[in-house]
Amino acid sequence: MSMKETTDKSQLEESLRVLFANVFQQVSRRRARPEVNVTFYPFAGLNHTIRIRNQRVYVRVSDILRDAPQPVYKALAHILVGKLFKQRPPIEQETLYRQYAYQPQVLRASDLARQRRGRKQLNGSAGKVYNLDRIFTRLNRQYFDNLLAKPALSWSARRTKRILGHHDAVHDAIVISRSLDLESVPLYVVEYVMYHEMLHIKHKPRIVNGRRIFHPPAFRAEEKRFDSYGEAIAWLEKTARRH
Ligand SMILES: [Zn+2]
Repeated sequence: MSMKETTDKSQLEESLRVLFANVFQQVSRRRARPEVNVTFYPFAGLNHTIRIRNQRVYVRVSDILRDAPQPVYKALAHILVGKLFKQRPPIEQETLYRQYAYQPQVLRASDLARQRRGRKQLNGSAGKVYNLDRIFTRLNRQYFDNLLAKPALSWSARRTKRILGHHDAVHDAIVISRSLDLESVPLYVVEYVMYHEMLHIKHKPRIVNGRRIFHPPAFRAEEKRFDSYGEAIAWLEKTARRH
C-alpha cells in the first residue's frame, strides 16, 4: 500500500466517522453525538458490523465498499444504526443500498472475497445411516438426466434442526443437516431435502426489484415433481411440531 493510499483511506474513514455520528444522533434523537470508530475490514463477503462499547460506537465496513459513492455510505449508516435501535431504516435508504450491493460487479467482488477468505467446513458425505453421494447420484439420474455436476457433498458439523439443507454456490457445496442422518428419518425425507438443494443448482437465484429470489415459481413447480413430495412435507411438518 502506498503512502497516498494510506492518506486517502484515513480521510475516508474520518468522513465516515462524521457521517455515522450524524446518523446516530438523528436516529437516536439524542442531543450528544457519540464517539464513533469506523474501519474497513476484510470480511468474507459483503458484511458489516456495528456495536457499542463504553458509549463508543464501533463500525466495521466491508472493504468491498471501499469505492462506494457517498450516498451508499449514508444508506449503510441508516441500516446499521437502525439495527442498534431495532428500527427499520427509511425505505429509500434500504433500496439505495440494495441497488448498489446487488450490482453484478459488487456481487462478484463479494463472492470472490468469500471464496478467498471464507473457509468451508466439510465433513464428508458418508453418514452413519445415509450416504449423500449415493443419494445425489440416484436423484441426478432420476430427475436431472445426470446433467448436474456433482458439488462437494457434506453432512453438517452440528445437528441443525431449523436448517435442513443448504446449497452454497460460492463453494459449490451442498450441506445436509446431520439431524437427518438417523434410522428414524425415512430415506424419502433425506432425498427430498437433497432434491431441493439440487434444484438450487439448476435454478440460479434471480434478482427482482433488488432482491435475490431463490425459489421462483418454476422452482416450486419442479419441486412438486419429487415422488414422495407430499409424504416428505408431512413428515417434516409433523417432526417440526414435536420440537
Ligand atoms: Zn431453498
